[in-house]
Amino acid sequence: MVILKSYPCSWGRCIFCPFSLEQSTDIKDIIETNRRVIDDALREVRREDVERVAVFNGSSFHELPLDTVLRLPPLAEGRVFEVEERSEYVSKESLKYLLRLMKPKELVVRVGFEVWDEGIREGYLRKGMPNSEVVRLAKLRKEVRGEGLPVKFIIYVLFGMEGLPESKVVESVTKFKELFDGVIAIKYRKYLPNHPNEAPVSKELAQYLERSADLVDWGEEEEWVFEKPS
Ligand code: SF4
Repeated sequence: MVILKSYPCSWGRCIFCPFSLEQSTDIKDIIETNRRVIDDALREVRREDVERVAVFNGSSFHELPLDTVLRLPPLAEGRVFEVEERSEYVSKESLKYLLRLMKPKELVVRVGFEVWDEGIREGYLRKGMPNSEVVRLAKLRKEVRGEGLPVKFIIYVLFGMEGLPESKVVESVTKFKELFDGVIAIKYRKYLPNHPNEAPVSKELAQYLERSADLVDWGEEEEWVFEKPS
């Protein structure tokens, strides 16, 4: 997993978003940090036999500076290459361009729809990705697969947040699995005082997610920090 620095997300309105804590508006800082991270990652993938590289930048891949994007093909080429995007960046043209530039064995696009229920997604979470986007990406997935393009779509589903009933989490996993290639369930963590509170997760939901989601991220891994060069 390669964690890159990015500008603040152009949407920036989701009520739970913690990524402002990592983002920067200093282009020099972003470019230099990312050059360092990519150089380290390249050394790592050349030393180990790495088949899969996931690049995350706390907003959309398409919001990375060009300097950073153009340094990524050696990491992606011939491997499964994963990126995160807001839905508006995902089109047939943008997918084809990424495939041409990165030459991955497979491109995995992760999209944070978070919840199936549009009222909660738009009215409460303020994701700015209505159901028309869910339907558009599901259709796009079918089209690109029909053309034989090696692209998969994985959807993030949030759980463990006040205002997000467990029944809606179950519904989300079920529905997104029907339309896309997989679901990653992410345990919500409250990072800022004005964010919604965390909610306890029932044993039933935990068992359901472990059984049904492709991956459950309980948020227990060590947190990422950008270290200054020594
Ligand atoms: S789309 Fe993602 S990065 Fe942007 S504000 Fe929402 S949660 Fe944060």
